Amino acid sequence: MADNTATVAGVEVSTDHWIDGRRVPSTDRFEDLSPVDGSHLANVAAGGKAEVDLAVNAARRAFPAWAALGPEGRLPVLKAFAEGLRTRAKDLAAVETMDNGSLLAGNVHRVAPRAAQNIEFFADWALTLQGHVIESPEVLNHVRYDPAGVAALITPWNAPLMLTTWKVGPALAAGNTVVVKPPEWAPLTCSLMADIAHAAGLPAGVLNVVQGIGETAGDALVKHADVDRISFTGSTDTAKLIGQAAARSITPMSAELGGKSPFIVCADADLDAAAQTVAGQYMNAGQVCLAGTRIFVEKSIESEFLAKVREAAAHMVVGDPRDPATRVGPLITQEHFDRVAGFVDRAKAAGAEPLWGGSRANFGALYFQPTLFANVDPHSEIAQKEVFGPVLTWQTFETDDEVVQAANGTGYGLAGVLFTRNEARAMRIASQVVAGTLWVNCFFIRDLAAPFGGSRDSGIGREGGSWSFDFYADIKNISVRKGSFNQVGG
Ligand code: NAD
Repeated sequence: MADNTATVAGVEVSTDHWIDGRRVPSTDRFEDLSPVDGSHLANVAAGGKAEVDLAVNAARRAFPAWAALGPEGRLPVLKAFAEGLRTRAKDLAAVETMDNGSLLAGNVHRVAPRAAQNIEFFADWALTLQGHVIESPEVLNHVRYDPAGVAALITPWNAPLMLTTWKVGPALAAGNTVVVKPPEWAPLTCSLMADIAHAAGLPAGVLNVVQGIGETAGDALVKHADVDRISFTGSTDTAKLIGQAAARSITPMSAELGGKSPFIVCADADLDAAAQTVAGQYMNAGQVCLAGTRIFVEKSIESEFLAKVREAAAHMVVGDPRDPATRVGPLITQEHFDRVAGFVDRAKAAGAEPLWGGSRANFGALYFQPTLFANVDPHSEIAQKEVFGPVLTWQTFETDDEVVQAANGTGYGLAGVLFTRNEARAMRIASQVVAGTLWVNCFFIRDLAAPFGGSRDSGIGREGGSWSFDFYADIKNISVRKGSFNQVGG
């Protein structure tokens, strides 16, 4: 088969760029391997400055007409786009699983439907952005959410379909055109997404996809002089580089980054539910930015709760992510496997004690055992740094002040999880933990209307609901002196 298409899980996927409504090849290609079984999936076009130029220029040309449609004019095509994602949910799910190793059942039932919802939700929300007027004694302030221009959207491999549509949805609904740079370790569902958008009638140039390596294609995109917004999800280190480029051109940037979130279990909690939720942090091999990886347990229930977590964790079956019984699939690449194993080895050497796990799982090359470390020095690497693997730490606390201080004791502030049956206690602790999202007696439930993002090293800004439009729109106030017109209309 020619390099410019690949068949993955029975689905044909283009491996070229999608620019200005057509496929564009590159002579440079990079190899995309499946973490599931190490199989070769595709040779993907590796873009650089030239392809980024083409894509940004196409997006710029398409911008005026797309912006002029207004939210109502954009609605039908965005609804058709969402419907197309829904219709091809099984294909998208199957390709995502082979490409990044995430669980097939989760991709079918949660991720692919959510991708469609991401597009539809923001298309509907955009309708509410018109006609906002603030009255003051002398003037009427007409607040407008104007389209900003060309948005550069960069996403990571752990959830490319979900995170890319999370950006594409509001960016397009706000009237911008976009250039997407998918993750090089799992680029294929973004390519399918482009086909689906095209089939839905999205005009040429409105959505462009430039495949490629972060340091070349991504770098060229964030440094492009004609980009008006940069929305990035990925690691904190990459965000610092992108931030430097954004600072040079004063381009607004949003960043959703890594985490090392606390998971606090109080003695008065529903311990069975809490234990199940702790074990759930191993899902997708812990390659989840929001995972509550630092477990803090109230001392009085430590042994009882540990027994429950041990039992729940024993059900976290490691295996092929296509098997419905599997809960923990592979790590994404050998490089990432080595990184995770390195964290684990250094933690052991520093005196942390693995209560279970701690090495490669007996399944395939990239599969790691669910691991829990006790006897953890809170200042050590394993308690401070994001591992992005199935590795949790276990600490105890005796007072709420102590656990709040410990929870806030890393440089991150993405999320947190808290289990208690005491509402006042819940709100007191939750309000003091530094985090963009704090779940109480639940995990991972996200309303698209609610703000999402991270504090400290976990991000800049919030997306979701109106917050997405605060970023993707150019907000203008037309301040009109009252009674200063003697003519209405043209
Ligand atoms: P990464 O930062 O290495 O890469 C993310 C994206 O940035 C990729 O598309 C990559 O090609 C691109 N990139 C890399 N270098 C670049 C550069 N110099 N200029 C422009 N683009 C560049 O991150 P990753 O390893 O793909 O993803 C894992 C990280 O993402 C973890 O830290 C995880 O917590 C985080 N993450 C955060 C969220 C969130 O919503 N907060 C969600 C998922 C993942």
